[in-house]
Amino acid sequence: MVPISIEAYVKKHCKDNPGEEPKQLKENLKQVVKDKKKGATCSNCGQEIWAIGSAVAYHGCFSCLTGETDSSEDYEIDEVCWS
Ligand SMILES: [Zn+2]
Repeated sequence: MVPISIEAYVKKHCKDNPGEEPKQLKENLKQVVKDKKKGATCSNCGQEIWAIGSAVAYHGCFSCLTGETDSSEDYEIDEVCWS
């Protein structure tokens, strides 16, 4: 995955999605990063969660949230980007 800071991701996401509330997204990301550090797992398959997707949907891994297996070009928050 491509590491990105919370700040940078919020900016990018809100530029692409003008209806989003940056404050709320940032709070969600902070929370989910904490959860991932504590070892939160996908509610569907038990793999480690994808923080960015989990901040906008539910606690899930990349594959379950997107239906794709290749995450090499997708972003993940730098603090929890382990692969
Ligand atoms: Zn999963």
